[in-house]
Amino acid sequence: MSGMLDGRYSRQELFAGIGREGQERLAGARVLVAGCGGLGTVSASLLGRAGVGFLRIVDRDVVDLSNLQRQALFSEEDVRLARPKAVAAAERLADINHQITVEPRVADITPASVRELVGDVDLVVDGFDTFEGRYLLNDACVERGIPWVYGACVEARGVAMLVVPGRTPCLRCLVPEPPEPGASPTCDTVGVLGSATHATAAQQVAMALRWLVTREVPQPAVMVSVDVWEAHAGRLEVANEPGSRRCRCCVERRFDFLDAPLPPAAVLCGRSAVMLRPLSPARPGLAALAERVRGLGDVLVSEHLLRLRSGALELTLFADGRILVKGTGDLTEARSAAARLLGV
Ligand SMILES: [Zn+2]
Repeated sequence: MSGMLDGRYSRQELFAGIGREGQERLAGARVLVAGCGGLGTVSASLLGRAGVGFLRIVDRDVVDLSNLQRQALFSEEDVRLARPKAVAAAERLADINHQITVEPRVADITPASVRELVGDVDLVVDGFDTFEGRYLLNDACVERGIPWVYGACVEARGVAMLVVPGRTPCLRCLVPEPPEPGASPTCDTVGVLGSATHATAAQQVAMALRWLVTREVPQPAVMVSVDVWEAHAGRLEVANEPGSRRCRCCVERRFDFLDAPLPPAAVLCGRSAVMLRPLSPARPGLAALAERVRGLGDVLVSEHLLRLRSGALELTLFADGRILVKGTGDLTEARSAAARLLGV
């Protein structure tokens, strides 16, 4: 082997489905990884190693010890320093592949922000852990005609599907309404294996790379499922004509989730945690606030966040004004703790 094939992408360029030309397309591609947890970290890792030229990684949370069992790209030091997942993942990827551009965003993906986040990318990879997020992403991508790769994983099983607006069914074609919050199992309630998240994200990324290189849509569209514990993988074929269904989203073009008002607070399902969203756009002065609250408990401050541990509660104030309260699933208690301890 000699010449170009000795390089970083040689084994991928030898693969007939990609080749030199495909590799150049990947170098020019822009991908959003929406959520950087079990699926998002593995997706970001594989996409970055594969040489996708631009990755935007968006996540609202901080690396937690319980993430390390399955989430690629993170370390114990990220837990100790309470580093935001998007930032930790971007820095690790910069060590792995300096030829690509990675843009971390520590933010919530909301009806107000999603259009801007998806607006300038070629494809989105779903790394969400909530249906709320996926239906919002489906609306935004169908509205803008941007392909996205659905992925979901709990216990030992996962599913993945490429959605290309106008050419394949969308998420709402298949499941018109999201399940009630708390009605379906999540990795916080029934657990999840690292093998399962890796297998699911690996499938998502293969679908993403294939689309970026070929622009081909499988006929008929397929949903892939895998169960790593039962050693089973399968594919469900779904009709490709979105027009044959009465889909509110891709046929009637009603974007219910984009139009929905953002609740000022949310109980994070399956976890003892509440997310409070800022009512005003003012950005908090984290360093000054850290000085004020130092007597109230253990304080950690960085350019991205302020964390205060006090009694059984842990409050994290992010630079964008969001507050994550862990240790309670009660909205009123979370609000009063934020007011009492942080004065916000
Ligand atoms: Zn549809």
